Amino acid sequence: MPIRALDPKVVARIAAGEVVERPASVVKELVENSLDAGSSQISVEVKSGGVSLIRVTDNGSGIPSGEVGLAFDRYATSKVANLEDLESIRSLGFRGEALPSIAAVAEVDMVSCATGEKAGVYLSLQDGVISSQGSRGRSQGTTVTVNNLFRKVPARLKFLKSVATENSHIVNVVSQYALAFPEVKFSLLIDGRVALRTPGSGRLIDSIAEVYGAEVAANMIELNNEAVAPSPRISGMVGSPKVSRSGRGYLSFFVNRRWVNSRMLARAVEEAYHGLLMVGRHPVAVINISLPSQEVDVNIHPAKSEVKFRSDSAIFGAVQRTVRRALTEQVTVPRIMAADTGAVFPTVLKETTLLPYAGASTAQTPPAPTPAMSLPVLRVLGQLDNSYIIAEGPDGLYLIDQHAAHERILFEKIRRQRSQRDIEIQGLLEPMPFEVSPRQEAILKSRYRDLAEFGFAIEPFGDRTFLIRALPALIHDRDWAGMLRELLDSLSSGDKSDWAEGVTITMACHGAVRAGQSLADAEMRELLRQLEQCDTPHTCPHGRPTMIHLSSSQLKREFGRT
Ligand code: ADP
Ligand code: MG
Repeated sequence: MPIRALDPKVVARIAAGEVVERPASVVKELVENSLDAGSSQISVEVKSGGVSLIRVTDNGSGIPSGEVGLAFDRYATSKVANLEDLESIRSLGFRGEALPSIAAVAEVDMVSCATGEKAGVYLSLQDGVISSQGSRGRSQGTTVTVNNLFRKVPARLKFLKSVATENSHIVNVVSQYALAFPEVKFSLLIDGRVALRTPGSGRLIDSIAEVYGAEVAANMIELNNEAVAPSPRISGMVGSPKVSRSGRGYLSFFVNRRWVNSRMLARAVEEAYHGLLMVGRHPVAVINISLPSQEVDVNIHPAKSEVKFRSDSAIFGAVQRTVRRALTEQVTVPRIMAADTGAVFPTVLKETTLLPYAGASTAQTPPAPTPAMSLPVLRVLGQLDNSYIIAEGPDGLYLIDQHAAHERILFEKIRRQRSQRDIEIQGLLEPMPFEVSPRQEAILKSRYRDLAEFGFAIEPFGDRTFLIRALPALIHDRDWAGMLRELLDSLSSGDKSDWAEGVTITMACHGAVRAGQSLADAEMRELLRQLEQCDTPHTCPHGRPTMIHLSSSQLKREFGRT
């Protein structure tokens, strides 16, 4: 075939494919137009999953009668005039593509009455071409009716899912915009039944109550990061860990009130919840990020549902910190505690019911080490064989096994952090698949939730594979896969009666410096300083000695000085 320019109808059909993927995409574009028009009321009505009818009615500014026809021209928009405008988009639409795209794949009627005009105009399109036009009485606002979507695009029609599935996508679109614009009164009618109605009170919590129900609404925590940084501003609400969900469908993100999909933002929120939710549970969150429009590029995809931030890491950090702070502030609740004197005074305790975790008691402090167990202050003299630290104490010489000593330090640290639910974790940028043997799989299936207490975010991912999303910071740069396997094998052979102790020991062992590793003086000093603070510094968690001590009198004896 020779090269030739495509017929405009073919061009329109191809382009429409990018904007109008399914009925919900039409709803999204029309609702966005209504919002851009400053509407305070938007009603959406659909029939048969949106295929036979989609109608969106608003009370916005309307389209001046002279411009109604233009609205259906490709790349005709009232929202962007020049190149500079593209750099500072505040409206939801800006590509001038939605109406012509919809008209290319459906029959469209529009009635609109602009501010200040006495009568409305009426417009009807077939195959993207105006078939009739006239004036029609209407109060201010716009109604767009879309019939027989994809009737002439059988390939698209075939790929649509069931009516119920298409309806659920439509409900989702309207719900998201209802969450983003609480000041707008939304209603959604599906086959004549009210599926959603929001009051338009301007309060996010009211929208959340309609979209997610009263129980979720009763457990939402307000976000506000003004104190943390002036820009970007993170606002919205997140669910207390009590209302977690099994999927990620309850995470909503808006950038300057544009609904966006972003795995990066989802990760930021999930990381903020780390340690507060069981593995496999996901938070509820409605978050708006406001930032200067130059800081974000919304012109990435025809559906405008993806954005590019100038600095992903700045946004990630701001979201994660803001959510984390809101959560930790919220779970700090005042309690009344009786003191020994019998007096009653208020104090502040971390809520203990937050984590489903057995055996933790914040009131318990470990017994103070007995003098015989504690270690004197040691002065580093050097390293032997890249494996032992030579040190001097008040009474002679100490040879410290660096690996065993570090194991002891880490063992106590992990135990302490776990009891305080304060394990340091490291999220992975991309979840890592982790393959296991059938035997390991059986163990991991029953244990992956418990491993969350230690900082592992692991979830089942099909046949003998799990996804690792986060790791204890302690071992994230070590051979953690080998560690996990070792752990699963030792658990499956049943030789660890106390599994939590087994995990702690294995993590400490894998996180500790190895024998044969050369250490700088400062590192050795730090290691000894930490060992001095251990409850039981003389043995490693496996029970082997961490050090050999030669007292001054022993030394004298050895040298025949007595
Ligand atoms: P865009 O939203 O990118 O500008 P659209 O094709 O969606 O492109 O709409 C074209 C134009 O039609 C808009 O710029 C706007 O001026 C007008 N328009 C569409 N829908 C409405 C509406 N509900 N109320 C007022 N004006 C509208
Ligand atoms: Mg638009």
